[in-house]
Amino acid sequence: MLEIENLSKSYGKTMAIKNINFIVNEGEIAVLAGPNGAGKSTIIKCVAGLLKYEGNIDVNGYNNKSIEGKRAIGYIPEMPSLFSLLTIEEHITLMAHSYGIKEYENKSQELLKLFDLWDKKSKYGSELSKGMQQKVSICCALITNPKLLLVDEPMIGLDPKAIRSMKGILQEIKKSGTCVLLSTHLLDSVQDLWDRILIMKNGEFVLSKARDDFKDEFKSLEEIFFEVTED
Ligand code: ADP
Ligand code: MG
Repeated sequence: MLEIENLSKSYGKTMAIKNINFIVNEGEIAVLAGPNGAGKSTIIKCVAGLLKYEGNIDVNGYNNKSIEGKRAIGYIPEMPSLFSLLTIEEHITLMAHSYGIKEYENKSQELLKLFDLWDKKSKYGSELSKGMQQKVSICCALITNPKLLLVDEPMIGLDPKAIRSMKGILQEIKKSGTCVLLSTHLLDSVQDLWDRILIMKNGEFVLSKARDDFKDEFKSLEEIFFEVTED
């Protein structure tokens, strides 16, 4: 479970996030949507523990910067950043060892095969295309069995097969109780996945609703988005 209370973040004089509150329950996929510059990546980076912020962020009851909190978080950044001199396989091993995961070989093989990386597992970080780096980055986050998965613009840079695999994985980890916080401006790509929609504009939520809130009237995410963001 992810609980965010009174989160604010400034970059110098730019107030990027303005006193935001929300909760993502176990097994829920929350989608952060909003135009470029709305503050989506900033929220995700605060939760991932990469930025200083004001307010409080708890993951499964632990502060996100505590060891217990960090152990529960998997983060797939918008821009993958791999080690140029480690192979794909070594990236996975490094992640698994860092998180103290003992039995990871079967899962590693499964993930690498799913993303067409198995026959390339001895290639170095420096030899990979952007899309391949993105897929390795996804495998690295998933190998730690996160209780909270943070994904910043997941579909960008992936080929159609990888997008399908990514969606399948999100459905699967949701069933296992993991909560997911995902940012995207490609609303179609998460139409079948979302449980909670958080639409941002200028660092604030203009809408925060659960899928159940719309159960009497079917609306696409795109319709919901334009209703609240167009003046
Ligand atoms: P989004 O992911 O929704 O496109 P961001 O969270 O990246 O938005 O950015 C939110 C706001 O914060 C924007 O106004 C952006 O210019 C600003 N911002 C983001 N990162 C930095 C940074 N490192 N330094 C200064 N301003 C930043
Ligand atoms: Mg962003």
